[in-house]
Amino acid sequence: MSRLYISGNEAIAYGLINAGVRFITGYPGTPSSEIIPAAQKLKKQHGLKAFIEWSINEKVAYEIAYGAALSNIKSAVTMKQVGLNIAMDPFMNSAYVGTVASMVVVSVDDPGPHSSQTEQDSRFIAMAAKIPVLDPSTVQEAYEFARKATELSNKYNMPVMLRSSTRVSHARADVRIDEELYNEPMEANFKTAKNWHEFIWRFAATPKQRLKLHELLNDKIKKIADENKIKLFFNGKILMLSSGAVFSYLYELIEDYKLQDRLTLGKIDMPYPLNFQDFSQFQRVIAVEETYPVIELQLNTEGRRNGLVPGEGELTPEVCEDILQRLGLIERKKIVTVPALKRPSLCPGCAHRISLFAVKKVFGKKAIYAGDIGCYTLALNFNVTDTVLCMGASVSFGFALKKAFELSDKDRDVVSIIGDSTFFHSGIPPLIDAVHYKVPFLVVILDNQTVAMTGNQKTLSDSESSTDVALKPIIIENVIKGLGVNFVQVVDSYDFETSLKLLKEAKKFLKDSSEPAVIVFRHPCINTKKGLSINPVYAIKIDKKLCKGCKVCVNEFECPAIIFNEEENKAEIDRNLCISCGCCVYSCPTKAIIKGEIVKE
Ligand code: SF4
Ligand code: SF4
Repeated sequence: MSRLYISGNEAIAYGLINAGVRFITGYPGTPSSEIIPAAQKLKKQHGLKAFIEWSINEKVAYEIAYGAALSNIKSAVTMKQVGLNIAMDPFMNSAYVGTVASMVVVSVDDPGPHSSQTEQDSRFIAMAAKIPVLDPSTVQEAYEFARKATELSNKYNMPVMLRSSTRVSHARADVRIDEELYNEPMEANFKTAKNWHEFIWRFAATPKQRLKLHELLNDKIKKIADENKIKLFFNGKILMLSSGAVFSYLYELIEDYKLQDRLTLGKIDMPYPLNFQDFSQFQRVIAVEETYPVIELQLNTEGRRNGLVPGEGELTPEVCEDILQRLGLIERKKIVTVPALKRPSLCPGCAHRISLFAVKKVFGKKAIYAGDIGCYTLALNFNVTDTVLCMGASVSFGFALKKAFELSDKDRDVVSIIGDSTFFHSGIPPLIDAVHYKVPFLVVILDNQTVAMTGNQKTLSDSESSTDVALKPIIIENVIKGLGVNFVQVVDSYDFETSLKLLKEAKKFLKDSSEPAVIVFRHPCINTKKGLSINPVYAIKIDKKLCKGCKVCVNEFECPAIIFNEEENKAEIDRNLCISCGCCVYSCPTKAIIKGEIVKE
């Protein structure tokens, strides 16, 4: 045993690798993104024979990992909670078909939400799919439950979910790790048995056979529920049931407020499947869980349905204190108010900003901008985003909005804005539809050659893998041309003049022909090695005599490195933030921002 100070996501990676999982796929999404890089690091450190890579999206990641589990290789797939929606089809089906070797589905929830579109609860989705789900309360448990999930999956030959949450995945703690790596030899095994024909009905089941598989699934779930025990702490007459991070908060609050004789706390490691239990020795039974009533519905307790537990938002320690106060158990201690945070904006020198500034200049305020999921969602701040739904919806919305106006005999410019990784993930199918149905709107692809929002993971255009084997880069514009788009242009985002020219050409093309146009704005993210190394460094300054205090550079361009001196009514450069990219020059109507000489290439 050794002790390591690691995050919950790193602990999950250690747990999986320790349990012998050697095939891990996933798609990046906060708060789950660190699991795959941590597993890749372990693979390198220990020279493991393994496949640990990112996939194009969660559905593909799921199916690849599942295919490995069917071939007798222990596998896992990682994603954030909304990513599970993308993988829903194979997720639901795999419960019926089951696995041969183990498969752990790691889905990390984001109550709050801090960086997601919804607060959906992966435990609830696991319950809908009839897949057992483990819910760690601490970083140590994140490690242990990753191993436990592998064992359970192996025992019942079915996928098992490990549901973590932002607070567990992003917390850091001293974790006891088993140093032994279970390096069992891998033995792929599919269609090798002589009596294969006896098994094939399961892997290629007809609807009738699916009924049989459903029956088998119900048997497994019943057995797992019979083994699923609730651990009880303290001796009160009121029973509180909980799982995940909320259990840890409640445990500490009960000790802090000395409620050991008034409350009993039930810890549920596996929130699904649960057997209905006799709690008649307690006066009240309340489920305190975030974010959906998974325990509450199965055990028919109080909680959300009678308004004791809030129906939305994170159950922070403060919210748990409120619940205890509502039950008349405590008088709350001093309430700490957290000051409002500054709204997030694109980084200083971000290439997306100058691209979107050019788009707005050509297409104007009246155009409809259908946005997508990624850093460029922050274009909301300077009015170049009117909609954000889910991955790839910018292109579908571009189609829908343009068609809706066409049907109403109105002409309206529509621009879809999507990042390179999101385009690969879900933007391609709606663009195929748009080509097929000849819908004339512009698709702007902001290609920064990385998945920036979630920590700069690689994209399909990369040739580097976690090993030293070079990969085949997928070239976005070739894919788009292959789909039949006739107007496809590529420009360096920092090249403002060419960007304007191409945007004007695209606008004309959309007027003259009934089909979509695509412009790829390419410039590496300035937070990557490549981005920093190729960035020009100009001697940038603001001529105070020319500055009229119009604030266009602050409000319409919004580089955080430009600040406004209200006393002088002039803009200023914050030298601590400015990376001297020179892009802001184009935002100033009076030419007060001056680029100067390039001081470094
Ligand atoms: S856009 Fe130009 S004139 Fe307006 S505040 Fe900024 S620097 Fe001054
Ligand atoms: S040069 Fe202008 S756009 Fe670039 S980082 Fe500095 S202030 Fe921002």
